[in-house]
Amino acid sequence: MININQQLAENLARVRLRIQSAAEAARRDANDVQLVAVTKYVDASITASLLAAGCSVLGESRPQQLWDKAAQPELAKAQWHLIGHLQRNKVQRTLPLVDLIHSVDSERLLASINNAAIGQDRCARVLLEVNCSGDESKHGLSADGLKEIVPLLANFSSVEVCGLMTMAAREGGPTAAARNFATLRELRDQVALNCPPNVNLTELSMGMSHDFEVAIREGATLVRVGSLLFEGLRG
Ligand SMILES: *Cc1c(COP(=O)(O)O)cnc(C)c1O
Repeated sequence: MININQQLAENLARVRLRIQSAAEAARRDANDVQLVAVTKYVDASITASLLAAGCSVLGESRPQQLWDKAAQPELAKAQWHLIGHLQRNKVQRTLPLVDLIHSVDSERLLASINNAAIGQDRCARVLLEVNCSGDESKHGLSADGLKEIVPLLANFSSVEVCGLMTMAAREGGPTAAARNFATLRELRDQVALNCPPNVNLTELSMGMSHDFEVAIREGATLVRVGSLLFEGLRG
């Protein structure tokens, strides 16, 4: 019989150590890399154990699951990030619950978020999701779409766009992933030149369980790690 708390604490320590080592190897400060623990695989009780182990920034990919978990008293201290697709009819309910939305992929969605934020008298923090892999099944703006949207960001006064997010190609291993991540960083550097003055695209959300070290080498400031944290707990 495994002890769930102990297993989670070990997994978390191992992931943090790997983040630390990857940052050092890239001559970066590990404090500049935030772990977002992706809890979509586990129920509220295991999520609460992870929170108790000291991991407070949690990511969910489905709004409904985020709403359900955010309503649990045992998870009241979590900071929620929405990392998956957000439908416009779910913006209103999601906004009050989240610290950061990683997955804004259209001007229409940005406008919805801005309107909801104005109505709720808050500022919404978001990232723009970019499809760097060319994988048709993935959400995200094209490079050209990103370049069109960035100069318009000043129109959305209640949205703070903090950076960019991407998912690497499924195929191609670390080499392809590294290329996708480098593309995101280079795109950020390019569009930063045309950014409205009050916009700082400092955050790069990239890297998951199988490629977060590559992502850190390429400049990730947020890594979204799920499976690795729950090894030994499922199945
Ligand atoms: C599920 C998911 C992750 C985490 O993936 P793992 O491979 O389990 O670490 C990261 N980002 C997004 C957008 C996801 O949907």
